Amino acid sequence: MRKIPLRKCVGCQEMKPKRELIRIVYNQTDGTVDLDASGRKPGRGAYICRNVTCLTPARKKKALDRSLKTSVSATIYDSLAEQLAEVEPEGPDE
Ligand SMILES: [Zn+2]
Repeated sequence: MRKIPLRKCVGCQEMKPKRELIRIVYNQTDGTVDLDASGRKPGRGAYICRNVTCLTPARKKKALDRSLKTSVSATIYDSLAEQLAEVEPEGPDE
């Protein structure tokens, strides 16, 4: 059986199969924090469930700030929430 890669969600802190999560990437070159649907953007990454509700605890506990080792502004959190609301519940099978 193929081993399923697990990643930890920065919101609920649960280990889940990678395709149930989406990568958030901090690009140190231009200072942006964005969702990375492809999982291949360069930069420091963190994973979150494909569910906007997981962003709330991550925001409250500054878990994303810690994972990405940067200060994530309210504007960025709002933009991530908007983007997360649009994503499919499951990512592509790798
Ligand atoms: Zn979660």
